[in-house]
Amino acid sequence: DQVVIERALISVSDKTGLLGLAASLKADGVEIVSTGSTAATIRAAGYDVTDVSAVTGFPESLDGRVKTLHPGVHAGILADLRLESHEAQLHELGIKAFQLVVVNLYPFVETVESGAEPADVIEQIDIGGPALVRASAKNHANVAIVVDPASYGEIIEAVAAGGSTLKLRQKLASLAFEHTADYDLSVSAWFTENVYDQWQDDVEALGEDVTFEAADDEEEDESPFPAGLGIEVTRDAILRYGENSHQAAALYVGEGGRGIAQARQLHGKDMSYNNYVDADAAVRAAFDFSEPAVAIVKHANPCGIAIAKPNAPDAIASAHLRAHACDPISAFGGVIAANRVVTFDMAQTISEIFTEVLVAPGFEPAAVELLTKKKNIRLLELPADYERSSLELHQISGGLLVQETDSFEDFSSAGWTLVAGPEVDDFMRADLEFAWKSCRSVKSNAILLAHAGASVGVGMGQVNRVDSCHLAVSRAGERAEGSVAASDAFFPFADGLEVLLEAGIAAVVQPGGSVRDPEVIAAATAAGVSMYFTGERHFFH
Ligand code: 5GP
Repeated sequence: DQVVIERALISVSDKTGLLGLAASLKADGVEIVSTGSTAATIRAAGYDVTDVSAVTGFPESLDGRVKTLHPGVHAGILADLRLESHEAQLHELGIKAFQLVVVNLYPFVETVESGAEPADVIEQIDIGGPALVRASAKNHANVAIVVDPASYGEIIEAVAAGGSTLKLRQKLASLAFEHTADYDLSVSAWFTENVYDQWQDDVEALGEDVTFEAADDEEEDESPFPAGLGIEVTRDAILRYGENSHQAAALYVGEGGRGIAQARQLHGKDMSYNNYVDADAAVRAAFDFSEPAVAIVKHANPCGIAIAKPNAPDAIASAHLRAHACDPISAFGGVIAANRVVTFDMAQTISEIFTEVLVAPGFEPAAVELLTKKKNIRLLELPADYERSSLELHQISGGLLVQETDSFEDFSSAGWTLVAGPEVDDFMRADLEFAWKSCRSVKSNAILLAHAGASVGVGMGQVNRVDSCHLAVSRAGERAEGSVAASDAFFPFADGLEVLLEAGIAAVVQPGGSVRDPEVIAAATAAGVSMYFTGERHFFH
């Protein structure tokens, strides 16, 4: 297993010990091939050296970016001369093999530490060097690779003793891979922190820690809002980017919290900024229910919400099917939250629909097995009783708005007032309660049509309630007929309600409280449609 060393390739940035090595190799009759300044250094000391460009027949070019990256070099390193076919091919191609490669890489870390500009740092990312190192290390059956002047003594001894042993070449190969791995780690760490000045500035502006502290020692007050919020958050992750690719972004989390930010990711690519926003909205919608419930969210709005009776067969899969049916077009690329363990059947349906994120308190093993075959879905585990913070923060330019979370829990119809039409039956009452609860997670103005425990049409985020009614009705199509409607706030005029009445809804629930309530009640009464007032609204922006 001894390999006689006849030809060496030397390409080193750090010239420490280079001349001693060259002297020994020359004394033992070894041919030396070298790159630009390495060759110049050896030649200046009076030793014979072949330029790599003479081997490749190609000039060193692009300011040194391309020197040894050539088959004339790499075939000479990678040929496995234990194989006759490799030997024959080298012969045919007129390429001579190397038995020794000595390389140390561009001083990347030193350049970074010197405070160089990014462009100069990037120039110090060695490309040809690592290729030489890895090729030689891979082919350690034939080639000895030296990446550190500390190993020169050993290789000089080996050459004098008649060649390198397999044991030595194995040891050197292992050091070599360690060296290139370390090198790439340094490069990737630099990229993470520095790639673009702007990006770095933005990240620095985000800071490591943000504390909302009391400005001053405040006077006592009775409000639930302390002068300082006492919320301490720490940067948990730098996200690929924010809402758009030109916005840097990071995730900050508080200690010990258990919201969507701390959900356990079981599978998939890293969560993006928009994934977090949508997953939070989906959880807000689905985990609100005590019954098995599924919500599908796009752009922070539900495009389908459904519940199932707890004792129904595969209740959660059934809720998902009906949530999806509400608006299959919008559900494409959606974020799904389920408040029960995801079953195999549900997983099977989801695996056929492009889905960004699926959040649930758990997954059946068979469901995980199926879904982890899909590269594009992210699976998150979040306990059903996850912590909802009691305060919600909303940033405005120059400040933060803080409000208590909408934790209103009484969605039962017991406290409602019937203001038009006859009392509804139990089935319709359950649907009204479902619609009323669901519409609180829809952005205002929200109109939600429901039937049999599932939304069938959602109108969201419009700047007037009439448009939200049109949207809900057009999404529902024929399903609007006989469905029930919920409105997150009162109808300021009868016009919005009339859109719903024309579509044939059977009952409606809304807060009431408009000065024009009599007009609105008259419209419902004339249509013979039952209308309930809740006395409570659920704006959500
Ligand atoms: P020299 O100082 O001899 O001109 O270049 C030596 C350095 O060039 C070594 O650090 C070696 O890793 C690197 N090197 C060798 N071949 C190539 C190549 O083809 N491209 C680049 N970018 N670097 C190379």
